[in-house]
Amino acid sequence: MNFLEERILKDGIVKEGNVLKVDSFLNHQMDIELLDKIGEEFHRRFKDKKITKVLTIEASGIAIACFAARYFGVPVVFAKKSKSVNIDGDMYVAEIESFTHNCKNQVIVSQKFLGTDDHILIIDDFLANGCALQGLISISENAGATIEGIGIVIEKGFQIGGKVIRNLGYHLESLAIVEDMDAATATVTFRNQGENA
Ligand code: 5GP
Repeated sequence: MNFLEERILKDGIVKEGNVLKVDSFLNHQMDIELLDKIGEEFHRRFKDKKITKVLTIEASGIAIACFAARYFGVPVVFAKKSKSVNIDGDMYVAEIESFTHNCKNQVIVSQKFLGTDDHILIIDDFLANGCALQGLISISENAGATIEGIGIVIEKGFQIGGKVIRNLGYHLESLAIVEDMDAATATVTFRNQGENA
C-alpha cells in the first residue's frame, strides 16, 4: 500500500452516491507535506517527459498542480469556471459536467497561456467519469499543445473515466485507484498497481 492509500484509509470518508470525501487532507484542509509527496511522485512518474506546463482545473486541482509543477520547474495554468456566456475570442472554451455538483460549467483558458510549443502534464484530484479530463484534453488540443501525460491523485476505478482516457491512448497515472467502496460498511478497496502499490 502506498502513502496515499494509507492516508485515504485513515482519513477518507465514504459517502452515499459514490463520493469519497478527502477534505481533511486534500481538497479543503490541505496537508502540505502530503501534497509535496504527491508532487514528487508525479515528477518521478513523468520525469522522462519534456513538460513545459502543468494544466489543471479550479479549484481542487490547483494546489496539487502547484506542488507537481515545482518539481518540474514549470508554470501552472488552471482552467477557470466561467459564468459568462459571451466569452471573447481570446479564450479556449470547454463544457464540463460536474460529477460532485451535478451541473454544467463552462471552463476557459486564455490563449495567451497555452500554445503549440507547449508540452502539457494535466493534473487533477479525482477521476470519476472523465468529464473534467475530457474538457482539459479538448482545451489542450484546441491550443495545438502536446499532452505528455495525465496525473490523477485518486481514480475511482469503478467509474468509466479511467478506461475511456486510457483507451484514447493517453499516459494516465493515478496514485491511488479505488476499486470498490461502500458507505454502509465504510470500506475502501484499492486496485493493486504492482510496483507503485
Ligand atoms: P469526472 O469529471 O471525472 O466525472 O469527475 C472529476 C471531478 O469531480 C474532479 O475534479 C473532482 O473535483 C470531482 N469528484 C469526482 N468524484 C469525486 C469524489 O468521489 N470525491 C470528491 N471529493 N470529488 C470528486
